[in-house]
Amino acid sequence: MKKILLKLLLIFTFMFSALSFGAEKLFVGTNAEFEPFEYLKDGAIVGFDMDLINEISKIIGKECEIKNIAFDGLLPALQSKKLDIIIAGMTATDERKKFVNFSDTYYLAQQMIVLNSDAKTNIKTFDDLPGKSVGVILGYTGDVAVSEIKGVNVTRFNGTGAAIMALKSQKVDAVVLDSEPATQYASQNKELVVIETDAAKEEYAIAFRKEDTQLLEEVNKALKILKENGKYQELLKKYNLIKE
Ligand code: GLN
Repeated sequence: MKKILLKLLLIFTFMFSALSFGAEKLFVGTNAEFEPFEYLKDGAIVGFDMDLINEISKIIGKECEIKNIAFDGLLPALQSKKLDIIIAGMTATDERKKFVNFSDTYYLAQQMIVLNSDAKTNIKTFDDLPGKSVGVILGYTGDVAVSEIKGVNVTRFNGTGAAIMALKSQKVDAVVLDSEPATQYASQNKELVVIETDAAKEEYAIAFRKEDTQLLEEVNKALKILKENGKYQELLKKYNLIKE
């Protein structure tokens, strides 16, 4: 009898620890087409955001599983609990803040215009976009910004790669995209140039469900630790995100 009880106890302990271990796992959503924040390298999802969330999860003692999905599917997946966290170079906009909470800011960016270097489009600022065909990526802040300008012929793509390909094959006159991936594409493609604009700064932050306030606080504390202990700076340098 004692043996059976002991066995039962062991089984319960095992089941319980397996369950609680499962509860500690965080599903982290991203869209790996946003170099240098998240991109695919030899089949693996790498980038600044991935390193950052790994460092954060070490501090808060939780295991992360990365899910790579379309950018405009990230917020719905968070709401429907398929994800617990989004880290995707996501700008903390007022519109998004109606539905999710954001961590403290971890990077400042802004929209830029990418052009073919030999193009005679005379595009120098956002004011020159009306009358032009402009590629954006569905659901990005760039999509929102360009869609607000009257008279622009907007084409929406599912990812940055498709938008840049359309630009290179002259299907669109310009692509509007966040500063870092935009400069990254231009440095990898000699035929592309980037125009800096006076667009407002955008704050990248990590997104959470409204009710997950404890997780948000833990992540903010971890971010603070990483900023203080030099790790955050080290990661910025690793991905060429600060000019020394
Ligand atoms: N910063 C932009 C946004 O939030 C683009 C983000 C991304 O593509 N990963 O819409």
